[in-house]
Amino acid sequence: MIPLSIPNFEGNEKKYVADAVEQGWVSTGGAYITRLEDMLMEYLHTESVAACQSGTAAIHLSLLDAGVGAGDMVIVPALTFIAAVNPVKYQFAEPLFMDCDDSLCMDPQKLRKFCEEECQYSNSRLIYKKNGKQIKAIVVVHIFGNIADMEQIMDIAEEYGLVVIEDATEALGTHYTEGRYKGRYAGTIGHYGAYSFNGNKIITTGGGGAVTARTAAMVENMKYLSTQAKDDPHFYVHNRVGYNYRMTNLQAALGVAQMEKLPEFIRRKQNNYKTYQNLLADLPMVKLLQFRMGTSSNKWFYALELSMENLYEDIRNIITKMEDCGVQTRAIWGLIPEQKPYINAMTYRIEKAVYYSRRILNIPCSTQISKEEIQFVVSVLRKVLGEMSHE
Ligand SMILES: *Cc1c(COP(=O)(O)O)cnc(C)c1O
Repeated sequence: MIPLSIPNFEGNEKKYVADAVEQGWVSTGGAYITRLEDMLMEYLHTESVAACQSGTAAIHLSLLDAGVGAGDMVIVPALTFIAAVNPVKYQFAEPLFMDCDDSLCMDPQKLRKFCEEECQYSNSRLIYKKNGKQIKAIVVVHIFGNIADMEQIMDIAEEYGLVVIEDATEALGTHYTEGRYKGRYAGTIGHYGAYSFNGNKIITTGGGGAVTARTAAMVENMKYLSTQAKDDPHFYVHNRVGYNYRMTNLQAALGVAQMEKLPEFIRRKQNNYKTYQNLLADLPMVKLLQFRMGTSSNKWFYALELSMENLYEDIRNIITKMEDCGVQTRAIWGLIPEQKPYINAMTYRIEKAVYYSRRILNIPCSTQISKEEIQFVVSVLRKVLGEMSHE
């Protein structure tokens, strides 16, 4: 079976984890945590990073530090993994779902139109006319390792006083190579950036994540909140409700080994993408999604756009038939405003997200995949699609 996306532990993972166990530092203290944070800071060219339990926790900490709470609204994508949106609910704030563009990331033109036409901006507050609530923040997700159009999004955010939380959980390593943000990494352009080291991400700590922000003080506050908000080094004094969100040293040991391999992982993902690109070029009915011009993407996930009818059934068929041939694929997420907890949520002209939610198939992208395996994946895809067009 060729898996969709599995972790790669060919580096120092076992050595560092065994070291952490031997030293007895397995929990939320230990040298690997700070070492991982230092490596992330250097890699991302950012001043401060806090390692935490998950990407979801990183987004939640960002909302907490930004002061988003009950009665506030947050603009979120309609087409993404639900973990990008759930933390808005943890804060008893209300999401407003925004459409994507052809990059699958948030559509900046719609975002602008929404702010201009559906909201009122006065006294540095953006008020949604429909319910009188203040829109405080946007969660921008960099889908599949691509990066959203941050130049436009930051302009709009600045104009309307919005806090930008970048969900860079899928885009560690993606950066601009041209334009205003040349050299800047996904997650370090907005006010906050969240990363995930879940098992399927480009590097993994089993479960885990990290958060960065504009200033060291913001990161320091999130670190404080992630360790039960303890206010005295010796006594149990707590001035706020804190969380158990800090990364453990065991996770960080894995993370340090993975960070050593990150550039190599990205190189392989980029090469494999090229191989797919060449092999898929003449295949009708599928289009390999591209990454933004003027950026270098980590090419974390490969996405095919299918051009077919009866898409839900067809995609289910393709996934099953490919699996029977030993190739694991998956459909893109369901629209979040169609999920039960969000069924009554506010939306703004969701069109492309609907279109893409029925047409995207993800194909194997692990860093270990060989050229022969990629050829096999494409030959199976060719066969399955050929059969279906004759049915
Ligand atoms: C993986 C992921 C998350 C959540 O990360 P966890 O570490 O699993 O909590 C959030 N948003 C997106 C887009 C993701 O892909």
